[in-house]
Amino acid sequence: MSDITPDYKFSRPAFPLGNLFIVAAPSGAGKSTLIKEILRKSSPEQSMQLSVSHTTRKPRKGEQNGVEYYFVDHAEFENMIKQDAFYEHAEVFGNYYGTSKAAISDKLQLGVDVFLDIDWQGARQVKNKNPDVISIFVLPPSVEALQSRLVGRGQDSEEVIAKRMGAAQSEISHANEFDYVIVNDDLEQAHKEFEAIISAQRVRLRNQQLRHDSLFTSLLAPK
Ligand code: 5GP
Repeated sequence: MSDITPDYKFSRPAFPLGNLFIVAAPSGAGKSTLIKEILRKSSPEQSMQLSVSHTTRKPRKGEQNGVEYYFVDHAEFENMIKQDAFYEHAEVFGNYYGTSKAAISDKLQLGVDVFLDIDWQGARQVKNKNPDVISIFVLPPSVEALQSRLVGRGQDSEEVIAKRMGAAQSEISHANEFDYVIVNDDLEQAHKEFEAIISAQRVRLRNQQLRHDSLFTSLLAPK
């Protein structure tokens, strides 16, 4: 008697979706460098993009509208909240930050893996909306390393740095809400661990069923 389950086709997801990843960290943990490395080293067939958020914070030197962020004023941001244009949004360091629905939904539908560089408040909102999201928290290797990275960046005032050091602890206290933790001591090692998380997500059953639909179908065809 055959025990091939007739449910196979019905349990298969209907749409090819990309994977959604959240990457959070206290500022100065080296999160941005890590994400840039992942995107730079990805092969062309691994379609990955970093979502560009909206923010009311002023651009830092060298930042361009539409590249690092969409820089908007308070009125425009609040208008977007009213229009329900955000997938998530939060106030961080006295400014609004938000991921627009437009920034992610089309990409996921096209099968692109999307990275959200957001804080713990945004991460919570995204997890509530999408239980399939994979969340990663990046830790600095020590308080000293964190401090020197914040100072070394040379883009913010002392007051801002002090404020961010205080906020770092509060951000780290939420690390236990995440699926994975990467300690960013050695960039190469951290990069390997990041890649391993992405690879593991890609070979999950749901994703493999979509990617290898014809393989499953031919292997299961009556002989
Ligand atoms: P920065 O001003 O240094 O670029 O970012 C400050 C903090 O805001 C970082 O922790 C960053 O992850 C977070 N952030 C950036 N974009 C978003 C967003 O769209 N939503 C949320 N919730 N946080 C964000």
